[in-house]
Amino acid sequence: MALITKKIKGTEDVLPKQSYRWQFVENIMREEAGKFGFKEIRTPVFEHTELFARGVGQTTDVVQKEMYTFETKGKESVTLRPEGTAGAARAVLEHALTNEGLPIKVYYLTSCYRYEKPQAGRLREFHQFGIEEYGTSSPMADAEVISLADSIFKRLQIKDLHLEINSIGCPQCRAEYHKALKEYFESYKDQLCETCLTRLDKNPMRILDCKSPICSKIAKDAPKIVDYLCEDCQNHFSQVQSFLKVAGIEYKVNPTIVRGLDYYTKTVFEFVSDAIGSQGTVCGGGRYDGLIEELGGQHLPSLGYAMGIERLLMVMENQGIEIPNPETCALYVAGLGEKAQVKAFEIVNQVRDYGLYAETDVVGRGLRPQMKYADKIGAQFSMVIGDNEIEEEKAKVKNMITGEQIEIALDQSFAEKFSQIQMTSKFADTQE
Ligand code: ATP
Ligand code: MG
Repeated sequence: MALITKKIKGTEDVLPKQSYRWQFVENIMREEAGKFGFKEIRTPVFEHTELFARGVGQTTDVVQKEMYTFETKGKESVTLRPEGTAGAARAVLEHALTNEGLPIKVYYLTSCYRYEKPQAGRLREFHQFGIEEYGTSSPMADAEVISLADSIFKRLQIKDLHLEINSIGCPQCRAEYHKALKEYFESYKDQLCETCLTRLDKNPMRILDCKSPICSKIAKDAPKIVDYLCEDCQNHFSQVQSFLKVAGIEYKVNPTIVRGLDYYTKTVFEFVSDAIGSQGTVCGGGRYDGLIEELGGQHLPSLGYAMGIERLLMVMENQGIEIPNPETCALYVAGLGEKAQVKAFEIVNQVRDYGLYAETDVVGRGLRPQMKYADKIGAQFSMVIGDNEIEEEKAKVKNMITGEQIEIALDQSFAEKFSQIQMTSKFADTQE
């Protein structure tokens, strides 16, 4: 029979033999976030379209070209989240979390949806780990959030990530800078790509972020924001750098980093890898002091970032970083005949209750295919139960590597006795 359909372009399935890699990375993210005091927030996969239009910004590529927006039966315009910041900010405001004391520190692990041209490291459904911190304008907070990303990368043993930082100032100093940029890019009007021509009037800073080779070449000699920062923004930027030094985090100032959201202010940064080609930005973020106000809240200086989990996993794979194998089966119990099958079922349940991974046949196969299956799942020990074993109320567990066999009574103490054998075997340290 022909398949009725296949997965949608730009989406990926995470299959069982891969999912442990995701879980490993996600667990480290959760643990590290916890150490810094960030708690998980989960928000809906879709939101009213205006949230993203305002929160991400009308002039961004995400809003102009990449959103999955549709009208519901109730004639509402809704959008699948293209990123996590706007939804988290909406939830913080809607539930007045600001009344519970500042700063508010949240993290999320979510799927995101963007209608992009699928390629390596660029999908239409992808996943992000992100953090948001609300209610602090201190440069120490900027260094702290960067430090959390850095700890995650260190725990994952990723080597070649460079941190690049910049300051894009506040709306005041940026106005001057916009003027200078506009003037500069005007003189290259005939060479800029079509998208950048539209950016020229509305948001010339976004030209600095253009991926087209011609635009990025022109952008290299454009006026630099650092020369236009007001005193407050300058101070903030230099203090962020001092705190990064205190934290022992290496960085490079890269004046072309501007990021995708419209409401970024002051610090912006990216962690970039050379290991995965042109989609090398694994993590991007910064400060968005104006975002909460833009969404109808009070003035609440905030910051955060998101990292792409698919890209992170690609970097780890390209660098040959080993991810510990998931638990292997401690015991496979084969049952021969109906009565023995029931006993096998009872025994594996006892072993599982005891906290170990055990399996028996649920397909109704004979002994040979059952043992083949035990091999396939990498069972450390196996045991065969037939009429004799039931009668004698004992059976032999076999070490699948050494072939050594030890007899255990098939009673209430089976799991405990088996676990002692398993613990003293060479498999012990593979079970956590
Ligand atoms: P890029 O410049 O690569 O388009 P971006 O500026 O759009 O990235 P952000 O919105 O800051 O990215 O998202 C944060 C992170 O999410 C990125 O650094 C990247 O790791 C990941 N990411 C963004 N878009 C995609 C995508 N389409 N597919 C896979 N990962 C993505
Ligand atoms: Mg993008």
